[in-house]
Amino acid sequence: MAYEHTIDTDGCKGCGLCVTVCPKNVLEISNDVNVKGYFPAYQARTEDCIFCAICCTMCPDVAITISEIEAEAAAPKQTEVEDE
Ligand code: SF4
Ligand code: SF4
Repeated sequence: MAYEHTIDTDGCKGCGLCVTVCPKNVLEISNDVNVKGYFPAYQARTEDCIFCAICCTMCPDVAITISEIEAEAAAPKQTEVEDE
């Protein structure tokens, strides 16, 4: 089973907690404002996410979700796997 990590951009208040706690340094704060005028978190290094859910647990606004998806949907349109 594969997983999908989603940030509700407009539900995020840009507090940066998730950025701080992520053990894989996946997240950063965007330079673009959301509908509330905050700079939301986003996945800068999606490929490094290990779906540990620490960010979801820490987010005070419950703006991060990890959900199970079909394995095929996890790697759309990829013909080669980069191994760096
Ligand atoms: S699930 Fe874990 S690895 Fe992925 S962004 Fe959140 S804290 Fe980082
Ligand atoms: S912890 Fe939640 S509210 Fe704070 S920056 Fe991350 S996603 Fe946004």
